[in-house]
Amino acid sequence: MSDFRLNGPKILAVANQKGGVGKTTTTINLGAALAEIGQKVLIVDLDPQGNASTGLGIEAEDRDLTTYELLLDDLPLDDLICETETPGLDIIPATVDLSSADIDLIANEKRIYLLHDALRQIGMDAFGYDFVLIDCPPSLNLLTVNALVASHAVLVPLQSEFFALEGLSQLMLTIREVRQTANPNLRIEGVVLTMYDARNNLSQQVENDARGTLGDLVFKTVIPRNVRVSEAPSFSVPVLNYDSTSKGALAYRQLAREILSKTSKKAA
Ligand code: ADP
Ligand code: MG
Repeated sequence: MSDFRLNGPKILAVANQKGGVGKTTTTINLGAALAEIGQKVLIVDLDPQGNASTGLGIEAEDRDLTTYELLLDDLPLDDLICETETPGLDIIPATVDLSSADIDLIANEKRIYLLHDALRQIGMDAFGYDFVLIDCPPSLNLLTVNALVASHAVLVPLQSEFFALEGLSQLMLTIREVRQTANPNLRIEGVVLTMYDARNNLSQQVENDARGTLGDLVFKTVIPRNVRVSEAPSFSVPVLNYDSTSKGALAYRQLAREILSKTSKKAA
């Protein structure tokens, strides 16, 4: 069973079981940066906190149908996908309902394949997505496992702070388990350093440690700590739309180019 489809989207899980490391921020802004250079992007909000949905301006009353229904009901994608204000950037939103999915999934014998199957359902091709970015919850639960099983590769945001690398071994172990069972081809797309402060020795030390340990897995692009990045969600837009020339916006554009250059499918 091969997942490789020439014209299908590249599916990336944005994962790290630590909270507050920049998963959602990276999902939103990488998505916007890819969309800006002509890629069609679908974000799947797989965190019951729904921060990606809120950050992209999807109001609570517009979240009747969500990733909960994507996983557990057989609904056409048309009913689930919401367009955002950013052209080319769509989202399947989440609400707190998703927090019970972990329990609701347990009895389902296909429980780790539900997102995989949902994203490969008939009709998906018609949307013409180039990328699907899955914003994972801050845990290695069944939702995150669904994301890892559904994905071609994992994108790991790493906050430039002390102990940042420590949590990684648990994530790597989970990735290895998923490879040994449901998704042998799962790759690591890369580790991106977030909230980097060039004036802070600690940031540099984390960067040196990460590059020393993980080598080429660490993206050349580093996302700086930038107040515009943290302000943008309260205006319901990616930082690229909120302050297009901010350091944060420039960094996410650079990350998008780095990821595209790795995606040979699009090189032609
Ligand atoms: P996670 O999804 O991993 O829990 P978030 O993306 O929500 O993490 O980020 C946690 C907090 O850090 C948020 O308040 C966010 O606005 C802030 N943040 C993320 N990246 C940056 C950055 N580059 N500069 C400044 N603040 C950031
Ligand atoms: Mg988040």
